[in-house]
Amino acid sequence: MFENLSERLGGVFDRLTRQGALSEADVATALREVRVALLEADVSLPVARDFIKAVTVKATGQAVTKSVTPGQQVVKIVHDELIRVLAGEGAPEALKIDNPPAAILMVGLQGSGKTTTTAKLAKRLKEKNGKRVLLASLDTNRPAAMEQLAILGGQIGVDSLPIVKGESAVQIAKRAKTQAAMGGYDILFLDTAGRLHIDEVLMDEVQAVRDIAQPRETLLVVDGLTGQDAVNVASEFDGKVGISGVVLTRMDGDGRGGAALSMRAVTGKPIRFVGLGEKMDAIEPFEPERVAGRILGMGDIVALVEKARETFEAEQAERMMKRFQKGLFNMNDLRTQLEQMMKMGGMQGLMGMMPGMGKMAKQAETAGFDDRMLRRQIALIGSMTKKERANPDLLQASRKKRIAAGAGLEVQELNRLLKQHKQMADVMKKMGKGGGMKQMIRQMM
Ligand code: GDP
Repeated sequence: MFENLSERLGGVFDRLTRQGALSEADVATALREVRVALLEADVSLPVARDFIKAVTVKATGQAVTKSVTPGQQVVKIVHDELIRVLAGEGAPEALKIDNPPAAILMVGLQGSGKTTTTAKLAKRLKEKNGKRVLLASLDTNRPAAMEQLAILGGQIGVDSLPIVKGESAVQIAKRAKTQAAMGGYDILFLDTAGRLHIDEVLMDEVQAVRDIAQPRETLLVVDGLTGQDAVNVASEFDGKVGISGVVLTRMDGDGRGGAALSMRAVTGKPIRFVGLGEKMDAIEPFEPERVAGRILGMGDIVALVEKARETFEAEQAERMMKRFQKGLFNMNDLRTQLEQMMKMGGMQGLMGMMPGMGKMAKQAETAGFDDRMLRRQIALIGSMTKKERANPDLLQASRKKRIAAGAGLEVQELNRLLKQHKQMADVMKKMGKGGGMKQMIRQMM
């Protein structure tokens, strides 16, 4: 899967990482190529646009890490952003299969691979989780489909509900539930009828079955080869019956893979599994990190940048600790702190960790102390001369005016920053004499 996209991106980053110093224009050109590659892979336009925007912002604000090239750093940023897009917020979810018998409703269009996927998942749950599984087909329109599920069940050694002619889907669902409870099954798969396209009758039937079955999971099976169509189908199904996750099939083909990248961002629903072939074992849990790695095919560079950053941060922490132990805390130190805070995703959490800063954290919250404020403060420090940064006591009225103007801000704001610096410097001085410094710095870094 993702061969084409992977090849395209590989080319872009190969050129990028071979260069030593990168200009903004180099990065811009590379990202334009990434955007085209994403669109050609059938990633939806808004998703591709957001992706490039996020990477640009991160690449621009990035501090240069020693011993890796800027190009390598960009690869790492793209890699992390791929994971974010693939995974969305929060941890990946495992199937909810507690409280037996747990019903799993399988929905999707005809030919998407729904019946095959049902059997693949049943086999997995039986073999990997030791679960007793019951299969039931609700496809009353297609007797052949009902038989197909029974045949697959036979192949993988999983029971299927006996077929009774003339029953409606809802009747089968009821019988399956009773059978699953009485037979001591852990999991009941309900393989609903597919249609060639979404229609009211299909949706009504799925809703009725859902209300009877009370499924723990409603998994939509979609053909990954259909690109953005797969995402549209997911949005529609989710709107009409509510889905808990998606299984993308045919990801073994030379499809363009865009569906995988757009799915979470557009529908908000996680991809839980990918189908990788016709055999009963050809299914894998969807792991954003692994997929991002496959798409980029640049694991070495990602690992290199991670390592370099760790080393760099450890050195920086060590340097700061030595300064603090001497009770030193100038504007350069404050700037490092502020940048660190930005990276750690904000102010409040961090201040809460610092001894003596609990009250300030509260004040910060009510004063709307956020990342924008951090950015302004960093700009103010950037507008000071080297001398001023080393010795903030130099800052009298005229210098203050110049600095504030240089950052495009009010003197008032600079005064606030100076007050904050003084408070922090006082704490540092006290801490420097006592113990606890090491641990505090470690927490801050
Ligand atoms: P349903 O109509 O949605 O139940 O679809 P089926 O389960 O009958 O699958 C339709 C066809 O797609 C069958 O020939 C399957 O073997 C094939 N198929 C299903 N999943 C995959 C997959 O992940 N990769 C490939 N290559 N073929 C698949």
